[in-house]
Amino acid sequence: MTIHQLSRKNIQALTPYQSARRLGGKGDVWLNANEFPTSPNFDLTDRTFNRYPEPQPQAVVESYARYAGVQPENVLVSRGGDESIELIIRAFCEENDAVLYCPPTYGMYAVSAETCGIACKTVPLTADFQLNLSEIERQLNGVKVVFVCSPNNPTGNLIKRSDLLKLLQMTAGKAIVVVDEAYIEFCPEASIVPELVNYPHLAVIRTLSKAFALAGLRCGFTLANPEMIHILQKVIAPYPLPVPVADIAAQALQLQGLAQMQRRVAEILANRAELQKNLEKLPLVQQVFPSETNYLLVKFQDGQKVFQTLWEQGIILRDQHKALGLQNCVRITVGTKSENERVVGAISAIK
Ligand SMILES: *Cc1c(COP(=O)(O)O)cnc(C)c1O
Repeated sequence: MTIHQLSRKNIQALTPYQSARRLGGKGDVWLNANEFPTSPNFDLTDRTFNRYPEPQPQAVVESYARYAGVQPENVLVSRGGDESIELIIRAFCEENDAVLYCPPTYGMYAVSAETCGIACKTVPLTADFQLNLSEIERQLNGVKVVFVCSPNNPTGNLIKRSDLLKLLQMTAGKAIVVVDEAYIEFCPEASIVPELVNYPHLAVIRTLSKAFALAGLRCGFTLANPEMIHILQKVIAPYPLPVPVADIAAQALQLQGLAQMQRRVAEILANRAELQKNLEKLPLVQQVFPSETNYLLVKFQDGQKVFQTLWEQGIILRDQHKALGLQNCVRITVGTKSENERVVGAISAIK
């Protein structure tokens, strides 16, 4: 047998996640991964590189708990929010269970499920990008985990809180509900975290990759009740966070780091409003969808032409043409003022 044939059938069939980095491109304007456009600066304070790190670094857990308004026993730190997605599937799904998600949404729910050999059920979002609750209820049989992204990537909108609460009620005792809040710092009042006290089957995913400007760090969080955190601790790797990562994450979560993050959010929100206003003036733009995040979903007459033309000029955006219902849409991360001006200038120059 070839090595390919020796690998698991579901891995043979798997299309890996098309991450922004994997898709490549030669650019000087990177607006395809919802990163913050500039890097914060940190020095390492912990140089015990000869020792294994703490399995759950106390300084990181305690400072994130304080920031999120929960107790340390409600927090699990992991290698990015992405690891949390996989931990939840591995801990809760048996061979014949399924996960459910609502496209168009984040691609990693499907990739992680397929990697684990777990079936995916999909219930598309409605035309206004909200949950189709009656259809979700019809599809719940055999579903162990429901993933909801709010604000949703790539559409940028929040899922209605009342719908999340209905989803939590209809799944109680049957399935885990994962609310992915990777972008919640851009609309913090919308967090579902205050509902953790009411729903033992709720898990919330967070990350330092977006508003904290630390995508390169690979640090994310699961917030849940202690019973669920203990289960996830059984399946996480023994030392998920390298010493330098824990060191920098702890610094980023001190009061000064949090204040910096809030300044970054304010700056992005101002730049987003400006970018939206300028895009809406362009004849090629059909619609700029409302956003609660650090990116804008934009519908063009010919989205692929816009994507391709800017790609060739080194302005790398995220094509959403193949995402369910998003033909001719492109997702644009809010960059620096000058990056946003480059985008608007390049689109306005297209014939
Ligand atoms: C960026 C992102 C994540 C997590 O990213 P990590 O870098 O792995 O922390 C999770 N969900 C969504 C929707 C995202 O956009």
